[in-house]
Amino acid sequence: MTEIKCPYCQQYVEIDTDDHYEDEEEYSCPKCSKNFEVSKKLEIRYSACGKADCLNGADHKWKPQVGSPAPHFRGKYICEDCSATKNVKSELATDEDWKAYYNE
Ligand SMILES: [Zn+2]
Ligand SMILES: [Zn+2]
Repeated sequence: MTEIKCPYCQQYVEIDTDDHYEDEEEYSCPKCSKNFEVSKKLEIRYSACGKADCLNGADHKWKPQVGSPAPHFRGKYICEDCSATKNVKSELATDEDWKAYYNE
């Protein structure tokens, strides 16, 4: 389900995306009963994310992940150049860390 704006009554109406609108398809507004065409356009863009030496034999450039809640991200790293992640078990938040976090 998705919402489109009727060109006649300017109301947002739900259309059933299961109906597979191919290019243009006639649709009648359930609010004002006018007919209009609905077009479907899907756009997918590809782009290079930049150089990633780690995908060419070099080591990943690990940087700590940050976010909230903070203890959840402790000991978790993400590579600067690619989407690789790793957990350092010895640095992961312990039950005590979580307790301290909630008591703050
Ligand atoms: Zn309408
Ligand atoms: Zn990497």
